[in-house]
Amino acid sequence: MSSSFDPSGLHTELFIDGAWQKAASGATFPVENPATHEIIAHVADGGPEEARAAIEAAGRAQAAWGKSTPRERADILRRAFELVIANTDHLAAIMTAEMGKPLAEARGEVAYGAEMLRWFSEEAVRIGGDNTTSVDGNTRIMITKEPIGPCVLVTPWNFPLAMGARKIAPAIAAGCTMVFKPAELTPLTSLALVQIFREAGLPDGVLNVVTTSSASAVVETWTGSGIARKISFTGSTQVGKILLRQAADNVMRSSMELGGNAPFIVLADADIEKAVDGAMKAKMRNMGEACTAANRFYVHRTVVGEFSEKFAKKISELQVGNGALAGTEVGPLIEQKGLDKVESLVADAVSKGARILTGGTRPEGPGYFYTPTVLTDVSIDSELMNTEIFGPVAAITPFDSEDEVLRLANDTEWGLVGYVFTENMGKALRFSQELEVGMVGINTGVVSNPAAPFGGIKQSGLGREGGKIGIEEFLEYKYTAIAI
Ligand code: ADP
Repeated sequence: MSSSFDPSGLHTELFIDGAWQKAASGATFPVENPATHEIIAHVADGGPEEARAAIEAAGRAQAAWGKSTPRERADILRRAFELVIANTDHLAAIMTAEMGKPLAEARGEVAYGAEMLRWFSEEAVRIGGDNTTSVDGNTRIMITKEPIGPCVLVTPWNFPLAMGARKIAPAIAAGCTMVFKPAELTPLTSLALVQIFREAGLPDGVLNVVTTSSASAVVETWTGSGIARKISFTGSTQVGKILLRQAADNVMRSSMELGGNAPFIVLADADIEKAVDGAMKAKMRNMGEACTAANRFYVHRTVVGEFSEKFAKKISELQVGNGALAGTEVGPLIEQKGLDKVESLVADAVSKGARILTGGTRPEGPGYFYTPTVLTDVSIDSELMNTEIFGPVAAITPFDSEDEVLRLANDTEWGLVGYVFTENMGKALRFSQELEVGMVGINTGVVSNPAAPFGGIKQSGLGREGGKIGIEEFLEYKYTAIAI
């Protein structure tokens, strides 16, 4: 693979039963560069027919793959990790071209995704089980873990490599086969990743990929197939609910990484430099297009002036532009819809009394760019307090008491992550305990880590990805009673 974006070297076909193939109809759909509006590729547009072939291939491959040795699966993941690292520049260039994030961030995502492969290569050989005795002493209880079976994987466009890696790696480690549908806005990175798994020696039929412009038709074919035993989805809460309903019909195990509405809380005793640094990461990583993005900044009234001023200064210095160019720190949003949403959320907040400290405009020219923006005095009934902004807009609201800010922070149906800045360990632990979220960042704006269980509570989802328990999502427990 080459080290820069090379349209001629891209994989653009479906991958079913170990072979690259076109859609039967010959249909394709275009992939656009959000910084330039240039069409960078046309990708095979699979439909129910290809979806059926893919899940049948996964079903056929399951028996043998489920019996593969843990070492075999670990070695494939390890080779894939090494290939991903060796192809960092190539993968990052594809990601930047189809998704817009700056190259430095794309490289960071490649490193994170690769770590997922390495982590699960290490977990594959440590699946283990349990052994105990019945309470009356008459039965030996043997507990073994088995692959759950063929899995449906559906990923979003915001982290095209990491979201795929985070699902494929534990499924391989556990011995599950897969059908995988990447987001239609960013299919190219996923297809490049699939080629890497092929080169790493993954047997035919274990990982099948269908790119499509008709997500619901393809995924419904899979959930309704009776072959798939599990679905792992990352995306919006709205689509997650649709897929949970579909999964119910065949009682499929479900892992759901859904939306967030993260509070970012700065207490009166916080180290303001640390808080500003954390805010830059929690807000601006991926142009704010992350479910972990800080969505609501609650800052104690005694420090809100200093925090807002320093934060707005740093935000105003960010270089916005095409992510492929050196020096760019903030790329475009993914599509017009996202840009329109951000614009309307800012207009709504301003109409309810918010003040713009920096940004609040769209730069001239092509690309779905929005100027990084800081709003202060944001009213809590503004729409952006109750919806994922998914853009480079920080909304600051002052608060007076800790009880008040905890109530505000928890007053949402989401519960993915919360960030707290304080120099007082007791307060940090109180907030860690009382925030209704699956993950808490104390004095840090980044929580994602392959060794940590990523996931949310409430309507942010079901299950966890990564960490020791990540592989459990793909395993069934079997208990055997042995009379003794
Ligand atoms: P986002 O708002 O981040 O784009 P979505 O939930 O719309 O999140 O999309 C996440 C993934 O879900 C994408 O791969 C998309 O194609 C897929 N998707 C969207 N709608 C459906 C649906 N009705 N059924 C199955 N998959 C869907």
